[in-house]
Amino acid sequence: MKFGKVLLIGRPNVGKSTFVNNLIGQKVAITSPKAQTTRFPIRALYEDEWGKIVFIDTPGIFNKAEDMLSKRINQKTMQAIREEVDVVLYMVDQSRRRDFEEAHVLGIVRKIDRPKILVLNKVDKGEGFLPQYKFMEEEFKDFFPISGINRQHVKPLLDKIFSLLPKMSLNKNQEDDLNSNYPLLNLDSKIFIAELIREKVFLMMGKEIPYRSTVIVEEITERNEKLTYIKAKILTTEDRYKKMLIGVGGRKIKEIGAYARKEIALATSKKIYLDLTVETDPHWQEVYYT
Ligand code: GDP
Ligand code: MG
Repeated sequence: MKFGKVLLIGRPNVGKSTFVNNLIGQKVAITSPKAQTTRFPIRALYEDEWGKIVFIDTPGIFNKAEDMLSKRINQKTMQAIREEVDVVLYMVDQSRRRDFEEAHVLGIVRKIDRPKILVLNKVDKGEGFLPQYKFMEEEFKDFFPISGINRQHVKPLLDKIFSLLPKMSLNKNQEDDLNSNYPLLNLDSKIFIAELIREKVFLMMGKEIPYRSTVIVEEITERNEKLTYIKAKILTTEDRYKKMLIGVGGRKIKEIGAYARKEIALATSKKIYLDLTVETDPHWQEVYYT
C-alpha cells in the first residue's frame, strides 16, 4: 500500500478546496483536525485501491503579510509545509492573470525541498492565461492540466501522486495513529462545517475579526434526499464586529454564507440551505473553548 501526505498550495481561489472536496466527497468521509488543536489547515483522507493520501488543504497565501490576519495564515501555511509532507501540489488558475501574489506563492514553492507537481486548474474555462504559466512547465517537470470542479483529467494526477509516495504497510499502531491524528468525521459533522464557514470568514474579512469570532453549527437536518438544512451562527465579541460581519444591507454575511454553502454542497453532493446569523457574545471563548 502507498501512504503519504500531500500539501496543496496556491493563492486563494485557484480551486484547492474544490479539488479536495470533489475528490473525496464521493469516496470517504472528510477528516479535520481535532476541535482543540490546530484549526488550520483542513485535512482530508483519500483512499482507494492504491493506498491512502492525507491531503492538507491550506487556506491560501496572501501577498501582503503586513496585517495580522495574513501573517497568521502564512505562518500556518509554512507550519503545514514543515510538517512532514511527501508531495507538494502547486495549483494555479490558468484562467486568471498571473500577478504578484502568484509570484509570491511561486517563491515559497521554490523553497520547499519536496517532490512538486504543478496543477493547472480550471481547464474547462478554456485557454485563458495559459501562456503566462507556460514557463512553469519547464520548472515543474510534472504538470497536469485539470478541471477540479468536473473531476476531469484527475486520474493521471492521482497516479503520479501515488507513484511518488512511499510504499508501506501500516501496522495496527500506525492505523490507530492515523485515525487519532486525522479523526474521521462524517460529512455532516458539525465541526467540519463550522471549520468551512470559519475559513470563509478568514478569507472574506479583514484584519482582526477572525480572532474575535467563532462558528457554532447548531442544527443539521436532512429535509429530504436532496436537501439538507444547516443552522449556524458566527459568534463575535463586540457589536462593532457583528456590524462588520453583517455588512451594509447584510451583504457581507450573505457573501460568506453563499461561499460556504457552495463548498458544503460540493463536499456532500447535496443541496444545502444554510441559515447563517451573527451574534455578539463577549464570553464565547469561555463558553465554547474551555
Ligand atoms: P481555494 O481558495 O483555492 O480553495 O479555491 P476554491 O476551491 O474555494 O474555489 C474558488 C472558486 O473557483 C470557486 O468558485 C470554485 O467553484 C471555482 N472552481 C474551482 N475549481 C474549478 C474548476 O476546475 N473550474 C472552474 N470553472 N471553476 C472552479
Ligand atoms: Mg480553500
